[in-house]
Formats: sequence, C-alpha cells, structure tokens
Amino acid sequence: MRLSQMLFVTLREDPAEAEIPSHKLLLRAGYIRRIGSGIYAYLPLMWRVLKKVSQIVREEMDATGAQECLLPQLQPADLWRESGRWDTYTQAEGIMFAMKDRQQREVGLGPTHEEVITTIAKDMIRSYRQLPVHLYQIQTKFRDEIRPRFGLMRGREFIMKDGYSFHTSEESLKKTYQDMAQAYSNMLRRSGLEFRAVDADSGAIGGSGSQEFMVLAEAGEDEVLYTEDGQYAANVEKAVSMPADAQASPFASFEKRETPGTETIAKLCKFLKCSPTQVVKNVLYQAVYDNGMTVLVLVSIRGDQDVNQVKLLNELTKLAGNYQAKTVLFLTVPDVEAQRKWAAKSLPLGYMAPDVADDYIAGSKEVNSKFLRLIDRTAVDLTNFVTGSNESGYHVVGANWGKEFPLPATVVGVRTAKKGDRAVHNPEQTLQTARGIEVGHIFQLGTKYSQAMGATYTSEQGEEMPFIMGCYGVGVSRLAQSAVEQSYDKDGIIWPVAIAPYHAIISIPNISDAQQVEVAEKLYNELNQSGIETLLDDRDERAGVKFKDADLIGIPYRIVPGRSVKLGKVEVVERATHKAHEILIEEVNSTLKQWIDAAIK
Ligand code: ATP
Ligand code: MG
Repeated sequence: MRLSQMLFVTLREDPAEAEIPSHKLLLRAGYIRRIGSGIYAYLPLMWRVLKKVSQIVREEMDATGAQECLLPQLQPADLWRESGRWDTYTQAEGIMFAMKDRQQREVGLGPTHEEVITTIAKDMIRSYRQLPVHLYQIQTKFRDEIRPRFGLMRGREFIMKDGYSFHTSEESLKKTYQDMAQAYSNMLRRSGLEFRAVDADSGAIGGSGSQEFMVLAEAGEDEVLYTEDGQYAANVEKAVSMPADAQASPFASFEKRETPGTETIAKLCKFLKCSPTQVVKNVLYQAVYDNGMTVLVLVSIRGDQDVNQVKLLNELTKLAGNYQAKTVLFLTVPDVEAQRKWAAKSLPLGYMAPDVADDYIAGSKEVNSKFLRLIDRTAVDLTNFVTGSNESGYHVVGANWGKEFPLPATVVGVRTAKKGDRAVHNPEQTLQTARGIEVGHIFQLGTKYSQAMGATYTSEQGEEMPFIMGCYGVGVSRLAQSAVEQSYDKDGIIWPVAIAPYHAIISIPNISDAQQVEVAEKLYNELNQSGIETLLDDRDERAGVKFKDADLIGIPYRIVPGRSVKLGKVEVVERATHKAHEILIEEVNSTLKQWIDAAIK
C-alpha cells in the first residue's frame, strides 16, 4: 500500500478523550476513530491487526478440532426467557441492548451466545454418538457497558471469539477445557504478549473451574494475586489466602465504653489502643433478588479484613431459595437514599453490633423484615473482641460469641485476599500483586444452560441426559489493544511482529531524487511479492515527518533508501530498538525474511 493513496491521518497531540497510552496511541496513529460512547471505527491499519489476531485465534482453535460457524447477532427474547436470563440481562445488569421489532416481538443484540448455541444443540444433537462437539465463532458482540472506556478495551461493540463445547461427561469437558487452556496460551504467546493464566470467579454455579488469561499491564482493570513459586495465581475476585494471625485481646471483661467519633476501624483502634484483629466489624449490604425481594445483609468480619463483594454475591445467590428467588439482581451498600425506603428508624451506622435488632427494618412485601446475618470465618474464633453497641458513640469490649452475642448461623468465606497474605498452598510464600487486562476466559459451565433450556441427548444407556457444557471467550479487539499497552515508547507503538499491520515500511527521504524512488519502488514490489507486507511512504513530505509517522504507527522495520543507495545499500531500522543497519539492496529481502521468521516463531 502506498501512503499517498491511503486514508492516513496522524495526530501530533494526545487526544483529550483518551486516558491510557494504548488508547491515545491508537487514536493518534489513525488506527481507530470514536463514533460514539464505546463505539469505534476500525480504520484500515486496525482492521489488518484485527484480522491477524483473528487468524492466530482461528488457527489455534482449528488445531483443537473446534469448528468455526457464525451465529445470529439478533436474538429472540424467548430464548433468553428459557434460560432465565432475559430480565437480568436487560434490567438488572442491563448489559443487553433490547428492542421491539415492528410486530412488537422483543429481540436483543447478542452480548454472548449460550442461548443460541444451546437451542441449536437441543435441536440437532440427539445421541451420545454425536458428542463431544465444539463450535466457535469470531464476531461483533454488543454490550451496553455502564462505563465504556479505554477505547477498544471496554467497548459497547467489540469483537469476540466465543466457543461452546458439548459433552457426555465431566472428563470429556475437562479434556476440552485443558485443550483450550493450551490453545489460549499459544494464541497469546504467538501474539507476542506477556500474560498469566489465573483462577477466576465462576459465579454461584460452584464446583466448576474457570480461568482467565490476563495480559500484564499497569492499566489493567483487574488485580491478579500470585506467588513467586509459580504455584498460585488468581483474580482478586476469587483469590484465597491465609489472613494474618489475630492478636490476643487486651480486654478481659465485657464492658460498654464511650468511644466518641470512632465510626471507622482506624479511629476506633487508635482510641481504644487495640489491634483491628480484635474487632468484629459489621457491614451492611442490600441485596435485591430477582423476585423483587430486598434483603438487608449484615456481614460480621474481623476488623482488619474487607468483604469481597463477588464472594458475597455468590453466597447470597446460594441462599436465593430461602427467599423463593433464583438469583440476585443487585448487591449494594445502602446509602441514605436507599435506607429511606426500608429503615423504620435510623441505624447506628458505624456502631452496629452483630445483633442489631430487626425492628430497624420496616418489613413489607418487598422488604424482608429480618436481617440476613452472615459471619466471615475470620471473625468466628475471636474472643473478648471489640464491636459496636448499637448506640452511636459507644462500643463494647471483651465480648464473646455465645455469651453477649449469638454466633450468626451462616458462616461464609467472603474476605478479600490481599498482597502480603500467606499463601494457602505454602505459608512461606506470600501473595504478590499485579495489574492485568482480561483478554480470555475459559469456563466449565456444566449443565446450567442445558438444564434450564431442556437441551438433552440420549445416552448409551438410553436415558435423556442434559448436555455438559463448556464456554471459552477471547476478546479479539481488547487483545489487539492490550498488545499496544504492553509495547510502546515515547515515539509511538511497537507492534509485536506477528500482529503488526505491515512488516515493513519504506520511507523515501526525498521523492524528487530519482534514484531513491527507483530503489524504493523496486524493493516495494519485491518485498510484497515475497510475502513481506510492506508500506511505501511516497508522500511529498519531509524525511523527518515520515520517520516520525513510521515510528508512531509502529511498523517493525523501516527501510530508508537514502544517501547510501549510491553504494548499493539502504538503511534498515528496527522499530523496537531504533537499531540501524546498512544492508545491500539485494539482501534486504532475505534479511527481513529471516528477522520476521525469527520474531514470529
Ligand atoms: P469483563 O469482566 O472485562 O467485563 P467479562 O467477564 O464480562 O469481561 P466475558 O463474558 O468472559 O467477559 O467475555 C469474554 C472476553 O471478551 C473477555 O475475556 C474480554 O476479553 C472480552 N470482553 C468482554 N467485554 C468486553 C468489552 N466491553 N469490550 C471489549 N472486550 C470485551
Ligand atoms: Mg470474564
């Protein structure tokens, strides 16, 4: 491609709309253009990158025996009602774009495809003989994200590879899951990314495994906890660890103390001269179940620990049956506004005890009249502890479970693991932290969707059995941008060779020099013919401008037919290192071929 004929517009200044380096660079270098909130046009250079990433993904998927297909993006609401996800996806999480067609039928734009694929399997797979089977597609997904940001990292329209596998047994599912873990590692390695596979939250389904593939970068929205020995890595949403030991309590007898202005643990501990490990704090949450029932949840946890909302959400989902519900729609810390709806009298916030009375709640048809009292494991064994007194400005010290306070009936593990904690597999290892961009997620679904949608096959014994399923996603467009987030310098993007839009760019320093132009044209044709994807910067611009642009767009090798053409040579500059080589014109092709092969391997 000749730059003189391309839609090629670069910006000198950082665009105001972008916060992180990769987003700024993709905009400045003319790869993407914002059309609306979370909506981007992939311009020609970007599209080439996306096609390369897709091709790597495709090759690795095909190698496992998965088959590519293309599923509809327009999805009937009825399918989502069968799985029970229509309301959560259109209302609670609100992530699905939903609309009515001219016949008043409801449809949604696909944020994911479990429903569509499960209905296909239900219709087409009759017998165990047809299993296992694995279908995947590479396609635009639509999600009405609350906070679209960082360009392609969190778009409302983005490209995903999603695959779904069907099995007769857990063993068969696990085999495909392992194959996928390997395929995902291959994809990321081949794309030139530094990454880590981590244990991930798999919601309230429980039991089944799930891993995320994280590209390591400061701008990542996820926190990864890992140990140096390489034995453990998990998303903080899922991570477990051993909490620090609690210190022995200095309070030998039960007493109520005046503790003015101590509504936080830090202030309280300073005032009482005690350790946060001697305190039971009581944190209030508000859960709204899918049948409209609001439940006030009081979590008692050791004072130095924090509640992990993902873990709490999973526990509350498990308890949904107690409220004749299936799932939790919202989980929030109730603010003053929210409390107005159900508080019978104002709560002693900051001073609540584990036994705060149910009569603070004005129960109704929508609001359960009793607190759901949960206790985290870290608080169960505390003795002579400090906690609230249910009266503002006062705490109690020297309290014990079974004496002053009944132990909450439901014990849960909802603490947040954090950096510096001892690891469960080996207490000598401590957890380290890193930021990650989630580019892939593999998931053992089990029978969640097949059961809900009545998707069964006939087993070898002649029984109707629900399919055992797995699902596997890669954010193709997010992956492409995360490569930039991992690889850039002050001059611009440094693409990994395997996914660069072009391998080389020939920048003619002076287009009125006939010899320079002749050498450039000759190399341009030769290189492209031999499969080295090459751009020709034949614009009537100063050499400096051309070099700056070549650096900004991040093409791995820049070829400059400058003064040395008279000696039969050109200069070749490596983008990543700025290293310059004088190479004989006849040897440019073979040299580049060698470098590219070595880089892509
Ligand atoms: P996240 O936690 O980042 O919102 P998710 O867990 O909802 O992602 P999945 O449903 O597992 O995402 O989708 C599979 C992959 O699609 C993700 O691993 C991610 O790479 C990509 N992805 C998800 N949402 C977006 C988005 N809004 N924009 C770009 N890529 C996305
Ligand atoms: Mg995910």
